[in-house]
Amino acid sequence: MSELLFRPSIQNRPVGQAILTGIRQKCPNCKTAKLFRAYLKPVDVCANCGEEIFHQRADDAPPYFTILIVAHIIVPAMLVVEKTLRPELWTHAAIWLPLTLVLSLAILPLAKGALINLQWALRMHGFDPDHREPDHLDDEDFEIETC
Ligand SMILES: [Zn+2]
Repeated sequence: MSELLFRPSIQNRPVGQAILTGIRQKCPNCKTAKLFRAYLKPVDVCANCGEEIFHQRADDAPPYFTILIVAHIIVPAMLVVEKTLRPELWTHAAIWLPLTLVLSLAILPLAKGALINLQWALRMHGFDPDHREPDHLDDEDFEIETC
């Protein structure tokens, strides 16, 4: 166990810093280059340092965390407005539906950047140069032997 902790490749990836860098949508390694080439499309390889980003598998985690965050903002605010001002139902819809949409679209890339960089910091899914996962399996791996 102590051998693992003192390996230089494990020591130099602080999780908190990686998450903050991901929220800024920057490469987890050099912290300067863009992490995304489009709205939610991460770069395959960092243009500045060459870090391979294509190992990421954020999948459904960014929408999950986005919904969690947005719901914790919108629902209490909606309850406070209802209790204090008691507006019409159409007023609620006019306020909260667009606000929910805008907040979700704004937070989603931040959550995805944070989760990609978290995977990098934890050396998940091929981000560990000592234990690369195969990018693909050859057809030969699935050949069925016939008699
Ligand atoms: Zn980089």
